Amino acid sequence: MNTPFNILELGEADLRRIAPPVADINDAVLQLQIDDLITFVQQRGGMGIAATQVGINQRFFIMSSHPNERYPYAPEMLATCVINPEIVWHSSHTEKDWEGCLSVPGLRALVPRYQQIHVRYWLRDGTQVETAYEGFMARLFQHELDHLDGKVFVDRVESTLDMMTESSWRSMLAGKSKGRDNNGTAV
Ligand code: ZN
Repeated sequence: MNTPFNILELGEADLRRIAPPVADINDAVLQLQIDDLITFVQQRGGMGIAATQVGINQRFFIMSSHPNERYPYAPEMLATCVINPEIVWHSSHTEKDWEGCLSVPGLRALVPRYQQIHVRYWLRDGTQVETAYEGFMARLFQHELDHLDGKVFVDRVESTLDMMTESSWRSMLAGKSKGRDNNGTAV
């Protein structure tokens, strides 16, 4: 990895920047940053990371969904770089589920997200993609897209009662007795 990444955390001004679109997908520096960010998210075992979380003020993120101990229902996918993403349609229906974020360590919260979205973005080879996501993947996409607009998941939490420390959240999952969905997102 060529770039030692430092994760920006809640309270750092650069996390709140609105990233401008990527102008040249073939740019050599951009392609290296994508390589490094994919390696980084895989080493951290994360589900995704946005460029803005590591101080790269460009409109792209990595999605790297995979099932693991914390998120057994997450779909398996190859790490994908999503460039200049847009939501072109969304369901009126939202649902709440647990999210966490590398930029907000130690906190989990129930976050309302659109249950279904239709999206458009570009891959790193310049291919344009139009596809649909629902459930976990829709949530992951919306979480990462928010980062590119300077938003973090706590901005969307409806009540402080929907927030937990990570240790309380883990205890709840271990007990599986609170009647809430046991899924979540650490991105
Ligand atoms: Zn995040």
